[in-house]
Amino acid sequence: DLYNKVIELKGNIRVFCRCRPLNSEEIAGGATMAVEFESAKDGELTVKSSHGSFKKVFKFDSVFSPEDDQERVFEKTSPLVVSVLDGFNVCIFAYGQTGTGKTFTMEGTEEARGVNFRTLEELFRVIRERQGMFKYELTVSVLEVYNEQIRDLLLQESHPGVAAKRLEVRQVAEGVHHVPGLVEANVSNMSEVWEVLQTGSKARAVGATNANEHSSRSHCIHCVMVKGENLVNGECTKSKLWLVDLSGSERVAKTDAQGDRLKEAQSINRSLSALGDVISALATKSPHIPFRNSKLTHLLQDSLGGDSKTLMFVQISPNENDVGETLCSLNFASRVR
Ligand code: ADP
Ligand code: MG
Repeated sequence: DLYNKVIELKGNIRVFCRCRPLNSEEIAGGATMAVEFESAKDGELTVKSSHGSFKKVFKFDSVFSPEDDQERVFEKTSPLVVSVLDGFNVCIFAYGQTGTGKTFTMEGTEEARGVNFRTLEELFRVIRERQGMFKYELTVSVLEVYNEQIRDLLLQESHPGVAAKRLEVRQVAEGVHHVPGLVEANVSNMSEVWEVLQTGSKARAVGATNANEHSSRSHCIHCVMVKGENLVNGECTKSKLWLVDLSGSERVAKTDAQGDRLKEAQSINRSLSALGDVISALATKSPHIPFRNSKLTHLLQDSLGGDSKTLMFVQISPNENDVGETLCSLNFASRVR
């Protein structure tokens, strides 16, 4: 049945939209909802203003309303992540304005674990199920892209002195890109995975004066590398699963930004628009895919396009006050679909 589920996924790019609930402060402040979910089951959502000046319907592969929990979201995500065990490269992105739930969806919390943890749990479950027919080896890397620089979050934790080392993407063979020196942690069970994930997220905050601000300006990336061996016919596969918590998509007011802030704002805009350009070029089967325009797309090059599978979570706020950013995110997502 798992195989069938995987085959059911037509095409290679999926877009899921997830809307967070109003938080207690917004409720206390009498915030109004600008998003409606009547036809969420058909993958539709409606954005409208309370005074009726506009109303727009968007359609996605799945729509998750504020009532949909982590389990429900993962139910729709799991066939895609499991295909990494069949040799497919997979990329999952969380895109959206800061505060809309990108980290909640990917990382989650201790009580409500997100896609990253559930994915590894599911991979280990399927590996057990296939025991005797397949043999698998999993390694995990955790990195960050900030200001067009790649930082190894596992290396920083184990060797604090070498944290400043610059990592670069290198092409090692036709269609094979690699980051020399990147730490790849072997994992064979969930407690090892949890340790690695924790190490990565702790390292992310190190050195940042404001952890929230830093995380809204950097991409946090987990990469699961899978080596598979079919014990029946001896066939071997190598594949990668990327789990990416993107930087916040909010437009940075250019007039407020100067010096380092301006450079930072420009590199954030550059990498998110480069990602959008790559995915929409792939979706329209354009002959030229501009992978080299940002560190992020360069890093993910082997896993975008070809027979790779891509899933974008577009995270939005339901609050009418955020409707401008919400429309920007939904338009971005409609463009990549
Ligand atoms: P982002 O990473 O996009 O900046 P966060 O994931 O940090 O946003 O989410 C902002 C806040 O909203 C967090 O406190 C988070 O726990 C909460 N939140 C986001 N999405 C949901 C959800 N679907 N259900 C419950 N709480 C959520
Ligand atoms: Mg976040």
